[in-house]
Amino acid sequence: MKRNLAQMATETYDLLIIGGGITGACIAWDAALRGLKTALVEKSDFSGATSSAPSKLVHGGLRYLKNLEFGLVRESLRERRYLEQIAPHQVDPLPFLLPAYRQSQNSPPILLAGMTLYELLSYDKRWLQDPDKQLPSFHPLSRKETLRRVPQLTPEGLISGLLYYDCLMHSPERLTLDFLQAASEAGADLANYAEVTGFEREGKSLTGVTLQDRIGGENLSLKSKVIVNASGPWADLLLGLMEEEPARHLLRSKGIHIITRAIAPLDQALTLTNEQGEHLFIIPWRGYSLIGTTDRQFEGHPDQFKVTSEDIDELIEKTNRMYPAAALTRTDVRYFYGGLRPIVEKETKVKVDSYKASRKHEVYDHEEEGIHGLISVIGGKYTTARHLAEQVVDKVYHQLKQPKAPCPTIQAQISGGKIERYQDFVSAQQSKWCLYRPELIAHLCRSYGARVDKVLEVGKTAPGLLDPLSPDLQEVGAEILYAVREEMAQTLADAVFRRTGLGTLGDPGTAALEKAADLMAQELGWDSEKRASELARVKARFVLPEAETAAQASA
Ligand SMILES: Cc1cc2nc3c(=O)[nH]c(=O)nc-3n(C[C@H](O)[C@H](O)[C@H](O)COP(=O)(O)OP(=O)(O)OC[C@H]3O[C@@H](n4cnc5c(N)ncnc54)[C@H](O)[C@@H]3O)c2cc1C
Repeated sequence: MKRNLAQMATETYDLLIIGGGITGACIAWDAALRGLKTALVEKSDFSGATSSAPSKLVHGGLRYLKNLEFGLVRESLRERRYLEQIAPHQVDPLPFLLPAYRQSQNSPPILLAGMTLYELLSYDKRWLQDPDKQLPSFHPLSRKETLRRVPQLTPEGLISGLLYYDCLMHSPERLTLDFLQAASEAGADLANYAEVTGFEREGKSLTGVTLQDRIGGENLSLKSKVIVNASGPWADLLLGLMEEEPARHLLRSKGIHIITRAIAPLDQALTLTNEQGEHLFIIPWRGYSLIGTTDRQFEGHPDQFKVTSEDIDELIEKTNRMYPAAALTRTDVRYFYGGLRPIVEKETKVKVDSYKASRKHEVYDHEEEGIHGLISVIGGKYTTARHLAEQVVDKVYHQLKQPKAPCPTIQAQISGGKIERYQDFVSAQQSKWCLYRPELIAHLCRSYGARVDKVLEVGKTAPGLLDPLSPDLQEVGAEILYAVREEMAQTLADAVFRRTGLGTLGDPGTAALEKAADLMAQELGWDSEKRASELARVKARFVLPEAETAAQASA
């Protein structure tokens, strides 16, 4: 993946995608595989917004059954299987325990009925070559067995439990990058830190965009026959660059997560609900607990999004209320992150409850309002991004007035995902690279899949590059260099949060950050001032927000 905006400005594309989250990445992959001349631009880093903020689940979404969204659940369950196949190094089955309480909205018969339906809708869950990826069926648990599995559960009112299976991503940020890498290999041109600032048009037809290179500072134009707005929570604001009053308005719902000491056994996730219909996941995450989420309408500009002290307190309070054994305090929070769910506001003046709002996506062809060459994609789930991309690219062909090429992404694998059986693949790599520590190879297989050789090749170029950045970490220096050379990392934050797992559990320590900064400084020619400011920006991200004073809040 090489960034070359000057070259991109000389081309005329069939398709230009605005937004480098999972939606844009999947569209770029699909379109490039079908042979369309494709470009994608992202105003910050790839996967820098909502796509780095999910609960990391690849799931059907059991709770959507309550809203009778059978189509969405079936779509998600099918896409879950495709994702296990497309990216076997990134997506793994995970058991979930769902306890049934007397006072909860979900009585055991309701849970059993819902789970039976979920099971039926995932009838294809074993249609996978790798037996380790085939999800077992759910099974009911007695009260005793439920408590044996999670002794910390409140015993009062507990009737029984259910054990079911969904999937967990290893790294949503790297999975998005995997799709972008695959798009690039199929011929797509990509650039991060390239912000669309306006649309160019001839009459009713869009012909391209103006954009600002946020690295070099120049303003450029890109030409394209069709443009897809995949800017997630910014979708209506982006349309505002073209129309005074965009036809679609978005609701934005804020959701945050915290990572804490392990508050539940780490061999399964916990799905908790209560009588108010609240919902909480406690997910095992690299030896710690990942807890989420909140769901609160967000009124501000998405550029101003941040996780506040109140958000963290709210989630701690919710966790302690729904799972008292946690007894969490702010000092238990190692890391926190959040994002905005874009939800399409229907033609209604009634306030929508964002928690109950559908996670269904909407693909909107602006031809309906007389603008040719623009398609907007709004809403959706990470899990269903591949299918969403398929529908968008079909519409792109319609706009191009060309016969539709068949969608190849059900059968295709991304380059890092060209693996038949994941465990056999890891063993084979460990034998092939037997001079290196087996844990290092296993770690690199997880992050890079079938591209593991490429990182090891970088590691062989200088001594120490395959040593951990600090003794208690798995990440090695070669990953930082690979991120810069092959994955368009431009800032230290890109490398720490979105190319490696260095920041995923909170502050990895000064020694590791300093080494990573040294490698980037050397590679990108940073002076000491630039290196220090990059380090300061990353360190600031680990500081738990303090409650704002009234004056700060109104500023
Ligand atoms: C709290 C929370 C938990 C979730 N959990 C899950 C889960 O467990 N499983 C699941 O399947 N889904 C989950 N989701 C949903 C999932 O994360 C989103 O559906 C998905 O990430 C949306 O991706 P996107 O590419 O559409 O948006 P984004 O990732 O937000 O990408 C849009 C991009 O457009 C860019 N952009 C904006 N304006 C411009 C411009 N002018 N020029 C260039 N670029 C621009 C932005 O910088 C951004 O990177 C969750 C969402 C939230 C908020």
